[in-house]
Parts: sequence; structure tokens; C-alpha cells
Amino acid sequence: MNVPLLDLKAQYQGIKNEVLAAAEEIFERQQFILGPRVEKLEKEIAQYCRSRFAVGVSSGSDALLICLMADGIGPGDRVLTTPYTFFATAGAIARTGATPVFADIEEDTYNLSPADVKRVMEELDEAERSSVKALIPVHLYGQCAEMEPLLAIARQYKMTVIEDAAQAIGAEYRGNRAGAMGDFGCFSFFPSKNLGAFGDGGIVTVQSEALYERLRILRGHGAHPKYVHHLVGGNFRLDALQAAIVSIKLPHLDRWTEARRHNARRYRRLFAEASLEDRIRLPVDRQDRHIYNQFVIAVDSGRDELRQVLAEAGVGSEVYYPIPLHLQECFSYLGYKPGQFPVAEKAALHTLALPVYPELSESQQHYVVETIARYMGEDG
Ligand SMILES: *Cc1c(COP(=O)(O)O)cnc(C)c1O
Repeated sequence: MNVPLLDLKAQYQGIKNEVLAAAEEIFERQQFILGPRVEKLEKEIAQYCRSRFAVGVSSGSDALLICLMADGIGPGDRVLTTPYTFFATAGAIARTGATPVFADIEEDTYNLSPADVKRVMEELDEAERSSVKALIPVHLYGQCAEMEPLLAIARQYKMTVIEDAAQAIGAEYRGNRAGAMGDFGCFSFFPSKNLGAFGDGGIVTVQSEALYERLRILRGHGAHPKYVHHLVGGNFRLDALQAAIVSIKLPHLDRWTEARRHNARRYRRLFAEASLEDRIRLPVDRQDRHIYNQFVIAVDSGRDELRQVLAEAGVGSEVYYPIPLHLQECFSYLGYKPGQFPVAEKAALHTLALPVYPELSESQQHYVVETIARYMGEDG
């Protein structure tokens, strides 16, 4: 049986006619960049995320970058984040000329640990501490980070909060949606996210009207009005075609999210029935609404062998992420050493993402669990 990590073909069949009609209209009109399709999507996403404003941008990575730029972050500043995330989170910080500062994650959710953020802040000297201008919690795998204590720390030290919600559109924490709790929320429409475009795209949610205006200016090279520049921005624009496709998909998102959550519950039942709960750590569902962009398990040993066995059986899986960011060569100048963030380092060695996409069938899930059970049996 073939069980890919993600299969978008079934989803496309359900929206194909609408997508082709929208594409034809855009091709006929020959207006490709920003415009009414993007403005429509911005209103829809702001409403969906229960945020005041949204600004369509070129990718989730650029969403992070433009927020840091809007906040005026640059050389001499520090920005605190998790070392256990997609590279873009810390990459955006480095691209502004600011210095990434890491704190460890929580063992069960893999999200930034408020206690460790506190420790890191307290261990900095006075000058360093006041140079930490922003905090970027990542809602990893689709579950919100522990926002209340993180927001309290940010308030204490006057840090801007930029939520990296690229994997978490529609995730909830104590009644709030991801992206609406901090000053900014960053989303990605990369095809493998829960709400994906047919190419690159992203969006920023923002609560302050002044920051909203600033983001819109930065998105077009800082021009305001045209050809007049008080700021240096970039080309962070979203295409009309991508915006139209995301708008077509958005009304289906809650149904797809429920299907992912259903699949997660079914995995829990199947792993329990196979008596594997003691040997495999399943994702914890701690916050209000985990949207399961990934269903990530952890095994004590043999993660890479298990991945190989799954691949040979036709089951897709992936390691998110094999090297924590503080140990990446490009960040060696920061001076971090192995052992400094033990929880993140352990996660990088033991975790594995399994297929959880909405259209996954019960028999496919059975097959995934059976394949793992067989491997664990042989493994002793
Ligand atoms: C995907 C992702 C990004 C980057 O989004 P792109 O649209 O691919 O640039 C940033 N942060 C996290 C946590 C992501 O998963």
C-alpha cells in the first residue's frame, strides 16, 4: 500500500472547477500582482484569524522578515526564539542584521518553553537584555505555544511578539486564534501547510493600524506615495492568482482541519490497540485546537531505521527537524555548543512525522500503524 506523507491531488479535484475559472478570469484581465483578489483574501484571513488586519505577502519567510522590519529591528538588536523550528524563523532574524538568541523547548509539545525563555533573559547582562527587542514563538506542528506566560515575559521586558503561525492557521489557545495574540502573526501558504497556495505565498495578521500601514508600505519597497521612499522595504507582494486560490480553499479549511483532528484521534486509538503507547510517544493535544499540520511521534531509539522501514513499505514520513538551529553551521558565529538546548537536541534525534492529511483513509492509517508495530516487534 502506498501512503504518501501528503497527497494534495484529492483536495484539488474538489475545487478544480472554481480554481480554473478564477485562473481564467485573472489571465483574461492580465492583472497579476496585488489588486482586488489580494484585498479580498486579506479581509477573509483577518476575519478567520480574529485579527484586526491582514497583509498578503510573498511567503511565510517574508512575513517574518517584514514584521521584523516593521518593528525597526536591525544590527545591535537581539530576537529570542526557539531552535526547534523551520530555518526561516531564525533566518529572518539574521537577515535583518539582528542576533538570534535561543531558548529551549518543552519536552511534550516541542514549543518554546516559557521557563527557559525566562532563564535565558535572566542570564543575559543588563545591556544584552535591553537589546532583546522581540520574541518569536512558533506554533509548531499546528499547536499553539504556551502564549499566556510568553506574553507576560514579553510585556515585562518590552518585547514585540511575532507569532510564527506558519503551521497553525486556525489553531486556538484559550479562545484566541493563532496570529491574533501577539503584535504580528505570520502565515505561510506553502503548499504543504494546511491552507496552501499553488506556489509561494504568505500573510501577516496585525492588530495595530499604524503597523498595518507600515507593512503595506514595506511590502512595495517602502514607497509611499509611489517613488517616494522614507523606508527601505522589499518586494514582498502576493500574486492575485495565489490569493484567488487561497480564497477558494478557505471555506473548506475547517472541514479539512476536522478531518486531520479525526485522523489524529484514530492514530491514538490504533496505537493503543497495537499496545504501542508505552514505546511510542504520541503528540500531546494540550491547547484548545491543535490543527495537526503534522502528527509527530517520538521513539526512544531507532528513529532512522523506522523511517527506512516505513519508506520500504511505501509510507512517507519526515524528520522535522534533524538539526536544531543553534547547531547549524551558518549560526556557528553565535557560539552555541552541543548540549546547550538538550530538549531540542533530543527532539531532533527522536521525532518522526507521519501522514495525517485530511483525505487519509482508515485502511491507510491501519497500514501505517501495522508497519510500525511489525518493526517494533522485530526490534524487540
Ligand atoms: C513553512 C514555515 C515558514 C516559512 O514559510 P514559507 O512560506 O515556506 O516561506 C516559516 N516558519 C515555519 C514554522 C514554517 O513551518
